[in-house]
Amino acid sequence: MAFERFFIQRTFFLDDVMESGTLQVIKDAGKQGILLAELVKKMNEPESTILEVIDSLNKNGQIKKVAEKHDGESTFRLIWNDFESEWDTREGLPCFVCPDIDQCGAAQPTNPWVCEKLNKWIKVQLD
Ligand code: SF4
Repeated sequence: MAFERFFIQRTFFLDDVMESGTLQVIKDAGKQGILLAELVKKMNEPESTILEVIDSLNKNGQIKKVAEKHDGESTFRLIWNDFESEWDTREGLPCFVCPDIDQCGAAQPTNPWVCEKLNKWIKVQLD
């Protein structure tokens, strides 16, 4: 049991480190954003790992994915989604930028009690 708890906490920690590191690289790219291939290279992680992180950041509304052709290949550019108003998200509280907020609440498809994004954010705040 203790090992499972340690493993879960470690997994949350590594996910958070990956997400915050990836978000920082995207923020540093400025308003023009960064191509997926460049991001993968800078993060020095497998593309599949970066794609998972990107999906999470995108679902949280922290970045946007813009489809683009590069050297004849379809790819996308990642752009930080919150240049002016990062301060009002209460240190990344996902509800402030949640694309699912219209479907969140009692008798809705999701709610704060089961929301993985919110519960993950709360856990990080409590640690
Ligand atoms: S609790 Fe609801 S509004 Fe907040 S992040 Fe989760 S789905 Fe979005």
